[in-house]
Amino acid sequence: MINVTKPFLPPKEEYEEMLDGIWKRNWLTNSGPLVKKLELQLKNYLGLSNLLFVSNGTVALQMAIKALELKGEIITTPFSFIATTSSVIWEGCMPVFADIDPDTLNIDPAKIEAAITDATTGILATHVYGNPCDIEAIDKIAKKHNIKVIYDAAHCFGTKYNGRSVFEYGDVSTCSFHATKLFHTIEGGAVISRDVELMKKIEVMHNFGFNGPEDFSCVGINGKNSEFHAAMGLVNMRRADDLLATRKRQYERYEKMLEGLEIRHIKYRKGEFNYSYFPVIFDSEEGLLRALDELKANRIFARRYFYPSLSTISYASLNAAPISEDISKRVLCLPLYFDLTNEEIDFVCDVLIRVQNR
Ligand SMILES: *Cc1c(COP(=O)(O)O)cnc(C)c1O
Repeated sequence: MINVTKPFLPPKEEYEEMLDGIWKRNWLTNSGPLVKKLELQLKNYLGLSNLLFVSNGTVALQMAIKALELKGEIITTPFSFIATTSSVIWEGCMPVFADIDPDTLNIDPAKIEAAITDATTGILATHVYGNPCDIEAIDKIAKKHNIKVIYDAAHCFGTKYNGRSVFEYGDVSTCSFHATKLFHTIEGGAVISRDVELMKKIEVMHNFGFNGPEDFSCVGINGKNSEFHAAMGLVNMRRADDLLATRKRQYERYEKMLEGLEIRHIKYRKGEFNYSYFPVIFDSEEGLLRALDELKANRIFARRYFYPSLSTISYASLNAAPISEDISKRVLCLPLYFDLTNEEIDFVCDVLIRVQNR
């Protein structure tokens, strides 16, 4: 069986060694030494000035919205994971969908500009599949209208933009270290910003609003993460280079093996992204469903990601986004994970080419 993803597990002994330390110290959570060490390693590896390790990528988004004090309308992408939209609603704001660029599947800056009203306070954009948004254009719009920018960079471990980590752009970026992501800490996430004051605020916020043992300076939440999760992160960080290089190699093999297939690839900013997913866009939903069925018959499980378009969700469907609604019906992510072999990639490709030629 070939699944769309398979969490990476390091050698058990390496994790057990970390556990020995936790048992010795008897310090399980609340900004422990492993959490601090992981934050430092992530900052060094990715070249970031500030990073806070938090419980997951969803809470990271919620805290970003809260800390920036966004109210009213937030312009966001209909083509993302549900948490992008649900966190806006969870924070009492209204998501306004700006449709996507059909080539990159990222939010289209021209559509953002058109969606701005007096009630707009922010933009929440996703760097879809680890491929950077049109950051300059978004930045220009935000400055012009004096609104904030949050990037959902859940897919972006290792992605660079203009030679710097893509996490460094926008007012805040968030990441997810969920088990299915390229780099993971089982559950986990991060908040990243160059704004030191904002980071201080989020740090206080993620620990119930404690600013000193008896001082509650703001409404907080429990967004902390544990030593056990940090331990997984530290062990996985030892092979961060390998995780990224393997993905790139596998991605390029897919690309080569699928040359004859009538599908469309996403337009990437080559060399800057992390190859974390391998999406293919079919000509029609029928074509996609035919491929999906044939893959299933061969015990290969691809995933419709992202589907459905968030503009069709019952509690969020305020405005239509025809491009996102069309493409989400035709896009499929093929299996991609560290242990996936060349033979398995070739097998997936053979099945897809066979369906087309039938
Ligand atoms: C995974 C993901 C999230 C949520 O992250 P969790 O750590 O699972 O809470 C948010 N946005 C996008 C785009 C994601 O892929």
